[in-house]
Amino acid sequence: MADCDVAVIGAGVIGESVAYELAARGAAVTLLDARGAGLGATQAAAGMLAPFIEGFGRPLLPLAARSLEMYASFIDRILRDTGIDVGYARSGSLHVANEEESIAELKVVAAGAKAAGVACDLLDARQALEREPSLAPDVMGGLLFPSHGFVGAIDLSAALCTGAVKHGARLIVPARVRRISSRGAEMDIELESGGRLVSQQVVIAAGCWSGLIDIDGMPPVPIRPIRGQLLQLAWSGDPLKRIVWGPRCYIVPSGPGTALVGATVEDAGYDERTTVAGVRDLLDAACDLVPQVWQASLVAARVGLRPATSDEMPVIGRSRAVPGVVFATGHFRNGVLLAPFTAKAVADVVLDNQEDPLLAAVSPQRFGEY
Ligand SMILES: Cc1cc2nc3c(=O)[nH]c(=O)nc-3n(C[C@H](O)[C@H](O)[C@H](O)COP(=O)(O)OP(=O)(O)OC[C@H]3O[C@@H](n4cnc5c(N)ncnc54)[C@H](O)[C@@H]3O)c2cc1C
Repeated sequence: MADCDVAVIGAGVIGESVAYELAARGAAVTLLDARGAGLGATQAAAGMLAPFIEGFGRPLLPLAARSLEMYASFIDRILRDTGIDVGYARSGSLHVANEEESIAELKVVAAGAKAAGVACDLLDARQALEREPSLAPDVMGGLLFPSHGFVGAIDLSAALCTGAVKHGARLIVPARVRRISSRGAEMDIELESGGRLVSQQVVIAAGCWSGLIDIDGMPPVPIRPIRGQLLQLAWSGDPLKRIVWGPRCYIVPSGPGTALVGATVEDAGYDERTTVAGVRDLLDAACDLVPQVWQASLVAARVGLRPATSDEMPVIGRSRAVPGVVFATGHFRNGVLLAPFTAKAVADVVLDNQEDPLLAAVSPQRFGEY
């Protein structure tokens, strides 16, 4: 007899949103995490919901755009269920250029946006400075996406976990899963502590550590850690009105008197330390973009390991090798943005065996016998 319908391994924003969705639909869910809820890459995220900045034609864009569309109702539901305000704002974003070459790139992105029917405004230097007077005067132009926004990733994670538990999910922490194997129609989950759990199905949402879980009948899922450092500043100057994305960093006006500056992208294995180089590079870049950062105080340097695949696309879908296993991992730089889409798509697979057509692009089978 199984202990639960679905065990979700990993309580980052992805595991939490999947657990929340499954529990809300009536499944008996157990959510396990090796550390505690929200303490992986999720606690370092800037929380940007900005799929269009990096351009059109990317294979991730259809999923990211769908997830952005789902965000307002996702947040409404979480607020209704938990009463927790997660700092959600659709402020827009301004992508800033300070050389001719980058202006040309912004024009290409703007043309892609227009062709896709996504609203944006190409601005000259004067217009960019009118919109964001705190920008450095060397700005040459910008591209504004009014539909972009941000959410407080730490608050969102806490709210999702609270919501999942309110809907009856059981959270077990700390609990590090070592091995998963089929036992007839059920899944046997072995913990490092020696404990066990039996579940009908298992969702692998262990972020960059997903490949370290031994799953009988398949090779390790090919996810690697990419370190990101991010600074939290206490901001006393004129507040930015929207996300400002510059050549070497972005700044998110994440709350009254607060700004987040991100982020480094480093191949440093499982090393979760902040570094002097990372902090210095981000501070230099932020001061070049918005000179009044010199007046801000440094509240914290955060660090997280993003879960990356070789094609920088997530891995979402049911395993064919071990059908009781469903993957929800590899969200790299977009886990917060992709949470609503992932939660719904995974719940549809787990509970109804329904596959959203968008999952074809992120199938585990693109990497082999999974
Ligand atoms: C600096 C930085 C800025 C970012 N900014 C943004 C942004 O603006 N917008 C955006 O959308 N995304 C952003 N991201 C990316 C985003 O943070 C990630 O894509 C997302 O957090 C991944 O969530 P996850 O749940 O898959 O992984 P994680 O949050 O890493 O959670 C995985 C969890 O699994 C647990 N775990 C691991 N192994 C086991 C095991 N064997 N047993 C049990 N539990 C286990 C871990 O303890 C951890 O809690 C950013 C990331 C960084 C680092």
